Amino acid sequence: MEPCIFCRIARGLLPCKKVYETDTLLAFHDIAPIAPVHILFIPKVHIPSFHELAVCDGALAWMNDLMSAVRIVADEYCLNGYRLVTNIGADGGQVVDHVHIHMLGGQPIGPMRVGAQPASID
Ligand code: 5GP
Ligand code: ZN
Repeated sequence: MEPCIFCRIARGLLPCKKVYETDTLLAFHDIAPIAPVHILFIPKVHIPSFHELAVCDGALAWMNDLMSAVRIVADEYCLNGYRLVTNIGADGGQVVDHVHIHMLGGQPIGPMRVGAQPASID
């Protein structure tokens, strides 16, 4: 069985609430939304994270579709703006190891990092 949960969704082996689709990209509602609008954009091919985009086949075609997909979906769901987030690796808080872009909107999303103090840069 396909081990990656987002590969399974991309192949139609697991259900999702689809929002938008192209040959290379699928956008669907997050199963545990943290905002009124919480949509995930994934490539249909397996790419582990944003960090691997430069070295994985299919990344460029997905990124190309992503630009228009974000615009089309946001024009329908996020009329007042939105935030795009992609978590990468352990420190980034990535849980699903198949690159995905979170679109958060539907209300003011708040500070970039709750409770953050200015980081020391020296
Ligand atoms: P990460 O922390 O890896 O950036 O985010 C993974 C996201 O995938 C989480 O927001 C989580 O709720 C979502 N997610 C995990 N499994 C599923 C699933 O089976 N279906 C959907 N629609 N979203 C999922
Ligand atoms: Zn995958």
